[in-house]
Amino acid sequence: MNQEELDAARNALLEMRRQVLQEANVSLNAYREMGQENLPDISDVSANAANRNVLLNLSENLRQKLRDIDAALERIDQGEYGVCASCEEEISPERMRVRPFSRYCIECKTEIEKFGE
Ligand SMILES: [Zn+2]
Repeated sequence: MNQEELDAARNALLEMRRQVLQEANVSLNAYREMGQENLPDISDVSANAANRNVLLNLSENLRQKLRDIDAALERIDQGEYGVCASCEEEISPERMRVRPFSRYCIECKTEIEKFGE
């Protein structure tokens, strides 16, 4: 992937994250303050009531989406974006456009869904 495609992907991911947070009525600041490591488990966040409210507003589905998006943004920074996490082949550009947070090429994804990760 060239720099231009990476920039486009990053913008698409940031826009997606903005929409997810908007859908959940969560401000980006609140989300950032909360920190990614607090996202997976509501029970871990007991001290900070504001953060707990943020989490409660997020359905499991939305939280999963945010994790996927953040992970994809991280892969852009690490130069691993667009490369299958399983076979290390480049993921097809069409697939990355439809699902910019894809971690696996379509072949590996199909295998994983059949047999589990
Ligand atoms: Zn693959």
